[in-house]
Amino acid sequence: MPSLSTFLQQLPDDEVLRLTTPVDLDHFPTALVLELEKRKQFPVLYIEMPSGFDMPVVANLFASRRRIAQIAGVSSPTEFHAAWLRAMSNLTPPEITSSGPVQEVVTIGDEVDASVLPISRHFQQDAGRYIGSGILVCKDPDTGVGNLSFQRLQLKSKNRFGASLHSRGHIWDHLLRSEARGKNLEVAVVIGAHPAVYLAAGAKVAMEVDEYDIAGALLKRPLELVKCKTIDVEVPAEAEIVLEGEILVNTHEDEGPYGEYTGYSTSRSTKNVFVVKAITRRANPIYLDIIPGYSTEHLLLGRSAKEAHVYHRLKEVVPSPIALNYPKSGTHFHAYLSIKKTDEGQARHALMLLFGLDPYLKLAVAVDEDIDVYNEEEVLWAIATRFQADTDMFVVPKVFCNQLDPSSVDGVSAKLGIDATAPLDWDVERTTLPPEAIEMAQRLIVQHKL
Ligand code: MN
Repeated sequence: MPSLSTFLQQLPDDEVLRLTTPVDLDHFPTALVLELEKRKQFPVLYIEMPSGFDMPVVANLFASRRRIAQIAGVSSPTEFHAAWLRAMSNLTPPEITSSGPVQEVVTIGDEVDASVLPISRHFQQDAGRYIGSGILVCKDPDTGVGNLSFQRLQLKSKNRFGASLHSRGHIWDHLLRSEARGKNLEVAVVIGAHPAVYLAAGAKVAMEVDEYDIAGALLKRPLELVKCKTIDVEVPAEAEIVLEGEILVNTHEDEGPYGEYTGYSTSRSTKNVFVVKAITRRANPIYLDIIPGYSTEHLLLGRSAKEAHVYHRLKEVVPSPIALNYPKSGTHFHAYLSIKKTDEGQARHALMLLFGLDPYLKLAVAVDEDIDVYNEEEVLWAIATRFQADTDMFVVPKVFCNQLDPSSVDGVSAKLGIDATAPLDWDVERTTLPPEAIEMAQRLIVQHKL
């Protein structure tokens, strides 16, 4: 059965950086990942002996587009958008099974102690130790449809966490409806599972879609779930660790600040409280961490599914979109789109659609098909040579936006569309080289191991 371990075992050795001596979890793993990023290296970290804890920690799993593609069952990042579309049209409901490794060890009630889990302190400004890699599983109080999402959890005591919930997420809507009935919202927090479950938890889908069905579609087999011991929620049988508990209604406590994906520490919080009733885990679990903030893994996990979703919606309307990239430099606020233009005005049309499909976007750039949107330098070159600011851009002021953007004002921001496509009747020629010369050069580079 697919699990986090089976996925890790498939990775080539040179993609895993194993730390075999004791490692301090406060700040160091985050620093290591960010320093490796500066050197364009994105290995999975496998920390065998976190100081003071008795289980290994894995981090940076989602930092490569190739691994994200692999999670979706394809070998190349260029196939990811298509793989995502296939999964979304083959939703595969889970199956409930009577037992699973995630319940090999069970602690309930007074025995619960979440502080023994190897929960890192990530950034200096963070209010404490945070679980950023927990998938919160809950059910719609009216329909029973399941929901998976990521919400940050601050360790407060052995059975209590501060939580900040995305106030536009489905879980927030579930909580409001539970609150109206005066009932706490039952939630299971899954820490460590096959990464397909993580990718599914980041999907942008309607409230009627259970993200477990997406995980099953990505895995091409129904995900096996077990019933929790103390709440009416199901969790992956092959998960590593699960916290069973409740988000309290009408209870608010300070939470944060926390380092968010924008690269800034934020105190914005819904100030909710999650109380743990039971912890279930494997006998020898792996604690999966996600390096938060403006890290490649945090941004890639957050945007891969969204990028694929937006791309396919665009394709339904725009005649020929080629590729869409949310560059890391734009956190979640910038998008680069290439199109094969057949009529003037198509680029602007596509840009307006992008802004309509994704309220987080502030800057969208359209380029021609010869520009690689994954190569930021090429996109900027297209702006330098095919764009004039007086005729080729538009600004839409005061649109609903993501409030974590520290430059936004009162929940609105401006949208900037840049059309860096060349006019159809352009008679300017790019410099080129004969293919034979390029092949010869490539062969020489390989020979000399350059
Ligand atoms: Mn949902």
